[in-house]
Amino acid sequence: STLADGISRGVDGVTDTLSAPFTDPVIRLGVTGLSRAGKTVFITSLVANLLDRGRMPQFQPAARGAIRTAYLQPQPDDTVPRFDYETHLAALTAQEPHWPESTRRISELRLSLKVQPGGLIGSFQGPRTVHLDIVDYPGEWLLDLSLLDKDFAGWSADVLARIEDRPGGADYLSLLASNDPSAVLDEPVAQALARSYTAHLNAAREAGYSDCTPGRFMLPGDLEGSPVLTFAPLPLVEKPGRRSLWREFERRFDSYKRNVVKPFFRDHFARIDRQIVLVDLLGAIHSGPRAVEDLRRAMADILSAFRPGRNDFLSRLFRGRRIDKILFAATKADHLHHEQHPQLTAITEALLREARDRAAFAGAEVGAMSIAALRATDEDRVPHDGVELPVVRGRLLGSDRRAAFYPGALPSDPGHLLAPARKGAEAWLDADYEVMRFAPLPLTLKPGEGPPHIRLDRAAQFLLGDKL
Ligand code: GDP
Repeated sequence: STLADGISRGVDGVTDTLSAPFTDPVIRLGVTGLSRAGKTVFITSLVANLLDRGRMPQFQPAARGAIRTAYLQPQPDDTVPRFDYETHLAALTAQEPHWPESTRRISELRLSLKVQPGGLIGSFQGPRTVHLDIVDYPGEWLLDLSLLDKDFAGWSADVLARIEDRPGGADYLSLLASNDPSAVLDEPVAQALARSYTAHLNAAREAGYSDCTPGRFMLPGDLEGSPVLTFAPLPLVEKPGRRSLWREFERRFDSYKRNVVKPFFRDHFARIDRQIVLVDLLGAIHSGPRAVEDLRRAMADILSAFRPGRNDFLSRLFRGRRIDKILFAATKADHLHHEQHPQLTAITEALLREARDRAAFAGAEVGAMSIAALRATDEDRVPHDGVELPVVRGRLLGSDRRAAFYPGALPSDPGHLLAPARKGAEAWLDADYEVMRFAPLPLTLKPGEGPPHIRLDRAAQFLLGDKL
């Protein structure tokens, strides 16, 4: 009808929701990764490139013109913060482009697509609406799943066994040594311990360590300062008294699992259909073999969160349905010349294979690739000591100068990087990588100016191609 047409032109999509509230398919795409992995930049770039198509040749629904229109709509979950797309886009497209604020909490954005179905059936049908609900959440929260299998004593023992030579670990241990966990709870002592332990977690994350729990300590949001985040690992105490520090921390640990971890999995995680896990693999490689070792363990932990039937709690939540595609993507590939991308992808694949084996993972289709959601560099070759080095050129943050960098070679055999025996034996990406903090290039390059991303379209194809 003319009226309906008028409305749908005026308020794009609203009529669809009104006329067919139950039939529009919804894809919930989870985007996660540890902090600084590139979630915010990925979502902003993905949405910008879906809204303004033409730069996604490998994303078939866009390339074959099946996506007729795309528009943002109010998200379905009123109590979840909205992903602040406009502000992030404004940062990236400013006269002086800068990186947006990183993910600190869960957020959501609904992008609705009008898609013309293909094939014979499609030729009889008009376009249908598919809603893409993008859910952005910190990977740190996902790692908390491992806590559900542990009690306070077990978790404490695991943590205390590994933190000594990690940043801030010794400080925490020495503070611990000067306090008696069997003594009656004294809140300032509890707070001092939690503060010191949190400082250690943040420092360890900063240094590239991934298995840092409880995840909410690093990204507390409005739980900051609450008892549920005021505990820390303690050595085992024989028969702790009812009012002891140990008993109270044990109680808070259980409360954390019940009131923080479980609601996240129930309300958000269990509703996801497709998942991308972003990993700052280059950052970990640069930080050294320990950080890589740690990342591979974190990837196995993350994968095990997606394993159907892994634990009773999750199985009950999923009730038979499951996340059917998971993509691990190494981000910021624009730090390397494309000649080095196959190695980066091979390492990501090797890490994934290994994580699959460790997590005894079967079920969902799992993929690995290396991407840059937003390219900050272009490529060149420069002579150096008689050889031509494949370099990338970009503008460093806070400088007007564009400069060329060669961050060093990745090992050609991923086994080299992953073999624990080689710990500390070699360093990769140590040459220029440290200083390669590039300013973003404008997100809105025109066709012909080069793609503003690397394989973002392939990632979209893997995650969404079959659904549109
Ligand atoms: P989040 O914590 O996972 O949300 O991470 P962000 O998306 O905020 O990314 C963290 C930082 O990584 C950014 O501020 C950029 O400096 C860098 N970054 C993210 N994506 C890219 C990319 O595609 N290319 C480059 N060169 N840097 C990136």
